[in-house]
Amino acid sequence: MVRKIETSRVAVVTGGTRGIGASISALLHKFGYKVAATYMGNDKAAEAFREKTGIDAVYKFNVADYDACAEYIARIEKDLGPVDILVNNAGITRDAFLHKMTPQQWQEVIHTNLDSVFNLSRLVVEGMRQREFGRIISISSINGLSGQVGQTNYAAAKAGIVGFSKSLALEVASKGVTVNVIAPGYIDTDMVRAVDATILEKIVAKIPVKKLGSADSIARLVAFLADDDNVFITGATFNINGGQYMA
Ligand code: NDP
Repeated sequence: MVRKIETSRVAVVTGGTRGIGASISALLHKFGYKVAATYMGNDKAAEAFREKTGIDAVYKFNVADYDACAEYIARIEKDLGPVDILVNNAGITRDAFLHKMTPQQWQEVIHTNLDSVFNLSRLVVEGMRQREFGRIISISSINGLSGQVGQTNYAAAKAGIVGFSKSLALEVASKGVTVNVIAPGYIDTDMVRAVDATILEKIVAKIPVKKLGSADSIARLVAFLADDDNVFITGATFNINGGQYMA
C-alpha cells in the first residue's frame, strides 16, 4: 500500500479534472502533493472537481499547443513552485477505420495525445535535471500495445508514448529523474461511457475479470511511481487491464 507522505512536491496532472486524471489529482492531493490539475474546456466538470477535492490550482489550456503549455507551466511554477512530477494524462479519441479517417481526425489525436507529451515533458525536464529529481508518468493505453480497429491514430499516439518514454528514461537516468508509462485497459470514465452500449457489453465480456477498471486503480500506481523512494523503476510500461492483454 502507498504510504501517506509529508511532501512539498509539486505535481502537474494534465486532463486532471475528469476521469482517470481526476482520481490521480485527488489521490496525490490526499498524499500531500501540491497538485495543479489542467483541463481543456469542460468548465462545469472543472468547477465540480474543485469543489469536491478542494484543489484550487486548476488551469485551462490546450496541451497540444506548445506556447500555451509554456505559458501555463511558467504560471504553475510561479503559483506552486518547480514541477517535480508530471502526469501526462490528457487524451482524446477520434475513431474511424483508416480508409475513412480524415487528416483532421489523425492530427487531433496525434497532437493531443502525443505532441502534448513532448510539449510538457520538454518544458519541465530541464528543471528536473538541474534539481536532480523528477517523475514523468504518461498514460498510454492497452490499444497502443495491442492495436485496435478504428484506432490507427490513437494506437500510434499511445505506442509513441512508450518509445518516447524509454528514450527519455535513458537520457535522464543518471539525473534522479524516472520516466514510466501506464497502459490502462478499459476504465469506467466518460471516454468509455461514450462507447455504444452494445459494443461496451461485448468489450466487457472479453475482459477476464468481467468488469471495467476503476480510475482509482490507475491513480494508485501513479502515486507509487511518483514517490521519492521510487528510484529504480524507470523506462517501464505497466499494464492495468483486468488480464485483457498480457504483454
Ligand atoms: P476523459 O475523456 O474522461 O478526460 C479527458 C481529460 O483530458 C479531460 O480532463 C479533458 O479536459 C482533458 N483534455 C482532452 N483534450 C485536451 C487538450 N487538448 N488539452 C488539455 N486537456 C485536454 O478521459 P479518461 O479519463 O477516460 O482518459 C484519461 C487518459 O487515459 C487518456 O489519455 C486516455 O487516452 C487514457 N486511457 C483511458 C482509458 C479508459 O478506458 N478510459 C483506457 C486507456 C487509456 P476537459 O474536461 O476540459 O474536456
